[in-house]
Amino acid sequence: MPSGKVHNAINTLSLIAISGAYSYAHTSKVFRLEPGAVLAFAGAFVAGTFLLSPDLDLAEQHVSIKNNWGWFGFLWVPYGWVFSHRGISHTWLVGPLTRLVYLALLLALPVYFLRDPIVHLKLEGVTRGPIFDLLLSFKNFWRKPEVARNTLLALTAGYYLSQWLHLIADGVAPDMGARFMPRKRRR
Ligand SMILES: [Zn+2]
Repeated sequence: MPSGKVHNAINTLSLIAISGAYSYAHTSKVFRLEPGAVLAFAGAFVAGTFLLSPDLDLAEQHVSIKNNWGWFGFLWVPYGWVFSHRGISHTWLVGPLTRLVYLALLLALPVYFLRDPIVHLKLEGVTRGPIFDLLLSFKNFWRKPEVARNTLLALTAGYYLSQWLHLIADGVAPDMGARFMPRKRRR
């Protein structure tokens, strides 16, 4: 199976190729996207490659993708316990979703505890200033339904494509059925 480095190289080269194809389509006016959607696609693709790779199912061992999380790598160990290597985590539809759900669970706790202090900060007017204005403009940006929809679509496309390239490199066929039987443990 390809190592983390090989996966990273394949995905990075693919993103460069996609960028090239897109800028050609853009300049020849064949196909145009909003700059925000382009950024969302690229950001989700990079995050999917370097932070949310299917090989996080090996997080209970030493695996390069865990190191990309730095100090927070240990947070993925339970994910490695739950998901056997190249099991459900390496399926085309459910696999990428398991990592998003797990990430949401990880984020739920700090969001829960930080929400209150942030709300209070706002009430006191301490955060008014450039950062406050920036956050406000993000909020308004997100409120436009078609912008929100396009951004979400771009995020999903970028993330799933990064995952599928990994699965193709691993030789996992696109099937709908999750493989519940764990395979022999290998990278
Ligand atoms: Zn893999």
